[in-house]
Amino acid sequence: MQECLFCSIAKGQTDTIFLYEDDELVAFRDISPQAPFHILIVPKAHMQSAATLTEDEGSILGRVFNLAARLAAQDGYTNGYRIVTNVGEEGGQTVPHLHFHVLAGRNLGWPPG
Ligand code: AMP
Ligand code: ZN
Repeated sequence: MQECLFCSIAKGQTDTIFLYEDDELVAFRDISPQAPFHILIVPKAHMQSAATLTEDEGSILGRVFNLAARLAAQDGYTNGYRIVTNVGEEGGQTVPHLHFHVLAGRNLGWPPG
């Protein structure tokens, strides 16, 4: 069985450069950036998407949001950013391992397309 792409990345089995790593999370730049700053924050544990999260994962979500703020600020994006997690096919999810996009550096507009 082919392993999940983000599990492989999180295990350090690819040449992906981490912006951040700890026991629970990794962060790296999106390979197809949609804004000047576009990173992915990925829990190391395999979870399909935000749809399968439970209350027990509350603390990791807090850590994801805190890390997003720190990594955006570290790159000088102090005028705002967007955190997105796509869920399922119509939600635009292409990699079935929970991840959070953090985008900044342009006016992102609302509503999304
Ligand atoms: P989503 O479409 O929300 O599931 O997001 C998946 C994201 O992963 C897309 O924005 C892709 O550009 C990105 N992506 C796919 N493969 C890689 C990779 N090897 N390294 C970094 N980002 C990737
Ligand atoms: Zn996975």
